[in-house]
Amino acid sequence: MIRIARFLNPLMNSNCYVIHQEQNKECVVIDPAAEKCENILPYLEANNLVPKFVLLTHEHVDHTWGCNYLREEFGAKLLCSRNCAKYMNVNSRSYFQLYYDQCDYEYQIAEPDQIVEEGTRVSLCRAEFSFFDTPGHSAGSVCIEINGENAIIGGDVLMETKPYISKPTGNKRVFEESIMRMKVLFPPTAMVYPGHGEPFELANVNMNF
Ligand SMILES: [Zn+2]
Repeated sequence: MIRIARFLNPLMNSNCYVIHQEQNKECVVIDPAAEKCENILPYLEANNLVPKFVLLTHEHVDHTWGCNYLREEFGAKLLCSRNCAKYMNVNSRSYFQLYYDQCDYEYQIAEPDQIVEEGTRVSLCRAEFSFFDTPGHSAGSVCIEINGENAIIGGDVLMETKPYISKPTGNKRVFEESIMRMKVLFPPTAMVYPGHGEPFELANVNMNF
């Protein structure tokens, strides 16, 4: 059985997910965004889990900040979309000025190990993931299906709260199309694990821009 554990990224107020088969010792981490992943380490230790892969829903620092730590400490492989890779080191300083007390703090992420495209399916730690390009919140945004689990990692695209168009790569029309496409592809009862807030059913996704 697959377990999807949700953790709040401190400072950033975003969600990090640790996904693993119950009896497996390897896990996938989605959107780690605490500098040293202090929010998930106790869970990893308690369950003897080694993070093997990091997936990013998009390029914003409140979803990426911990990926260097997991790569350096555990040798985890990083997977993200082409536009996520293109923009993940752009404008990160403004986030740290907002959330972090060290204004001169620099955070650069090295090239990902694998670029995922629309329709990419990968089998990681005995779970299968499918990627959907869903730009609009930002250029690099994807939704990630956990295959066979009726579960979608929604990033900042599928949210119960008001959609947020992030400048300069966000776009309202594109954003609406992305949400509509997911609503066509998945049943209303699909569980969405969003980038911020509690999980909810896809029927309740917020389209009030
Ligand atoms: Zn975002």
